[in-house]
Amino acid sequence: MTESIYANYPPSLSPTQQEFLVTTIKDWAIQNGLAVRPPPTYVPEGTDPNRVLATTAPVTLFPSPFPRSCFQEAEALQTAYNRLYATITNDEKWLGKIIEDLIDVDDFVANLWKTHLAVKEEGYVQDLSLGLFRSDYMAHETANNAPELKQVEFNTISSSFGGLSALVRSLHYDLLTSPPGFSLSYPPHPLFESNVPPENTAVETLSGGLAAAHIAYGPSKSSPKLPLAILFIVQDGERNVFDQLALLKRLTDFHKIPVFRVISSKILDQTSIPASDPSRPLVYTPPHSPTTPFEVTTVYLRAYYSPDEYKSSRDWEARTHLERSAAIKCPTVLNQLSGCKKIQQVLAEPSGPDHLSSFLKGTDSSLIERLRKTFAPQYDLSESGQGRDLALNPESALKHVLKPQREGGGNNVYKSEIPGFLKSIPEADWKGWVLMELINPAANAENVALRNDGEVLRGNVISELGVYGTILWDNKGNVLHNDQGGWLLRTKGKEVNEGGVAAGFSSLDSVLLF
Ligand code: ADP
Ligand code: MG
Ligand code: MG
Repeated sequence: MTESIYANYPPSLSPTQQEFLVTTIKDWAIQNGLAVRPPPTYVPEGTDPNRVLATTAPVTLFPSPFPRSCFQEAEALQTAYNRLYATITNDEKWLGKIIEDLIDVDDFVANLWKTHLAVKEEGYVQDLSLGLFRSDYMAHETANNAPELKQVEFNTISSSFGGLSALVRSLHYDLLTSPPGFSLSYPPHPLFESNVPPENTAVETLSGGLAAAHIAYGPSKSSPKLPLAILFIVQDGERNVFDQLALLKRLTDFHKIPVFRVISSKILDQTSIPASDPSRPLVYTPPHSPTTPFEVTTVYLRAYYSPDEYKSSRDWEARTHLERSAAIKCPTVLNQLSGCKKIQQVLAEPSGPDHLSSFLKGTDSSLIERLRKTFAPQYDLSESGQGRDLALNPESALKHVLKPQREGGGNNVYKSEIPGFLKSIPEADWKGWVLMELINPAANAENVALRNDGEVLRGNVISELGVYGTILWDNKGNVLHNDQGGWLLRTKGKEVNEGGVAAGFSSLDSVLLF
């Protein structure tokens, strides 16, 4: 069945039609904020000294067909996944045992763990944690059966693209529904008949989580009391700023919550914790208005997920400063660590303790089995395990990807490169990596991408679906808010191993369910 859906999709375009569609999309994108700051390589040095330029985010010209059953299953599982990762985060002992093994081979993980221990030693003053998660999947094709939903990874920090993804859905919706003869619109195709991409509530869901945390924080702890605000911690030179601003706008316009974006290198200059106050409120002093400080209820990290962002001990000092404050962290250090690829591999282990059932006590066992079904086989590289043989054998390596404990794309080793890579690093370091079987989405799907240098590429593609979820919980395991909603489809050339839009591999896309 899948075969026939992908055949002759997307409809072909004459050169004039394609040019027209591309022009329409470029204009739509800028008009609606479906944009990114241009990569430095597109702006030769000195040509944009004041950084005023923005460009169309990489997008597909057409929505991609995606199996409805997989899409619905991903949505149905999200709140259980939220609970799973909240519960793991609360189990410091279980988490610590796994992290312990990574500490001697991974400085970044070691430093995160140290940050947690330092704050624990002093005592945490905030019981609540906020998660803004994204669970990523592919629709795995098997010979005769219906496609199966398989998880690529679960993200617990800086889960991005909710803002732009909702806009791509609107772009494709507009192109599908504009009457023929109008400036927008696609050539006809059977898949377009009375079919539009499902609603995408990513912005509402993610801001809803932040707003729930803001409210749960309660009144100002400062004396005298201060007005309350949310802080987004962002990277210097962030190109994906409009994605963040979509959440910011929803928080200010709809929830009426003040939000400020602070570059991570400025945290120690612009925020403080009064030394004399044991409740440790985090006070933000806006540089543009130093006489009106705010107390921060919630710190949302769109930074600090990658080791290269910690340039000196000052960055670790800033991270510790946030962690020890009374602000609700999204995520806490422990919640960030729960998203390690190693944790996902341990959860997927087919034998040994049933971690899923113990973390999701009280959950319907059939739901737990549905979660388990989304796991692709994953292995450690220990001497006794199967993973080592699979990774070192050139033939079996072809069916696998090797992952370190990193986020943000561009860190994995693929297929034929795995054996040589492993042999090039000390064997003692192998325990910092996990081996995962490759998921195989439909082989004959096609789409056309408009890259952000204006290049238009048509070809076979692979799509990755992300579903957003948000959860607010306390350290005793009480859940105050647990919600799912909104999705992301990223599409890349079939021959490309890596994923990630920001990393330059994929384009933003939307789904047409079949
Ligand atoms: P990151 O946290 O850096 O995004 P991922 O686990 O998502 O790491 O891997 C990056 C990309 O590698 C994914 O977006 C996907 O394109 C590809 N990838 C990862 N795991 C698999 C897998 N099991 N099967 C197929 N592709 C994968
Ligand atoms: Mg990730
Ligand atoms: Mg990923």
